[in-house]
Amino acid sequence: MAEDVYLDYQSAKPVDPRVIEAMLPFLTERFGNPAALHAVGDKAMEALENARRQVAAFLGADPAEIVFTSGATEANNLAILGYASRNRRTGDHVVISEVEHISIHNIAKYLEKDGFTVSKVPPDQYGRIDPAKLRARVRDETLLVSVGWASNEIGTVQPVPEIAEMLRGTGVVLHVDAVAAEGLVPIDVDATPVDLLALSSNDIYGPPGVGALYIRDGVKLAPIAMGGGQERGLRSGTENLPGIVGMGAAAEIASAEMADEAARLASMRDRLIEAVLGTIPDSHLNGHPVTRLPNNAHFRFEGVEGESLLLLMKDAGISVSTGSACSSKTLEPSHTLISCGLLHEEAHGSLEFTFGRFSKPADVDRVMEVLPEVVARLRHMSPLYPSE
Ligand code: PMP
Repeated sequence: MAEDVYLDYQSAKPVDPRVIEAMLPFLTERFGNPAALHAVGDKAMEALENARRQVAAFLGADPAEIVFTSGATEANNLAILGYASRNRRTGDHVVISEVEHISIHNIAKYLEKDGFTVSKVPPDQYGRIDPAKLRARVRDETLLVSVGWASNEIGTVQPVPEIAEMLRGTGVVLHVDAVAAEGLVPIDVDATPVDLLALSSNDIYGPPGVGALYIRDGVKLAPIAMGGGQERGLRSGTENLPGIVGMGAAAEIASAEMADEAARLASMRDRLIEAVLGTIPDSHLNGHPVTRLPNNAHFRFEGVEGESLLLLMKDAGISVSTGSACSSKTLEPSHTLISCGLLHEEAHGSLEFTFGRFSKPADVDRVMEVLPEVVARLRHMSPLYPSE
């Protein structure tokens, strides 16, 4: 029996055993509430602030610029809704890219219902946003621009440093959803003048259900949930201390290991891309051929459906994805692939492989034992694929 293979690290990652070790005391003897004034509370506050320092160091930020949240969805909401509502007297226009995560699209929809105008910047065929095209949509009433550091689907990395430089001094705030890129490409808010940046803990092998928002010193937000005033009044609710400690530990490990890990992931990714494109006819790479995440390989196969491929791969013990797990329950094709100019049937014929910390070169071999045969079998049955 072949070993099961997991190549869907984009949708969920196991928590690193070193992170679990760091978290465990905070579920038992170090259970205190950071807001409590006794010694147990003091110890909890110390741990909270230590985690804040670890996450800040991961980004090159000041610890006072980090607010912990329940995840990246909440961080994106706090960033965009919090900034828009606090500053609506100075503008009513927001710019996002068409290839944003579903959470950003749905926040934009909410803003539109609330009287804001939203402009969406289309990408090129590789999913890349041209900074000049984005700049052309910024106008006097623009409050904020939101661009993901990288696509969680097709892996294209955006020119965020150029976009940030371009917006510097314009008074327009730049929010970046960095979830897909964190731990895979260097992110330094000192070198790259973003104003707001969302992180998720699980994407750096920390526990799920925790995230953080970087808020550059001086950027003012309104809270989106009212309560006891924790996290400088921006994110009320008793802090998830074990989760936050885990995120801090995960950030420290990611900072130390990212360079080597990215190179290791990229070599598996490149071998898979070469093998698939070299052995499976009429297969194509989605996303940018060069500026892409080191762990992402995203293909489309003419004449087959991604869902059928996924299920046959599943039968062989290989877990892969047809795209964003956050929108896998809809029958709509991926908005990202459609924005890149793919036809509906092309978008539906796509499959995403994402490598991670526990992937190994043998996983590529196993995929190549199964995938060519599965594609051929489906094509044989497909009215969309001409047989010789
Ligand atoms: N942004 C991106 C790019 C994502 O991939 C995800 C999902 N992991 C989110 C935001 C939402 O994150 P969470 O589920 O932690 O709220």
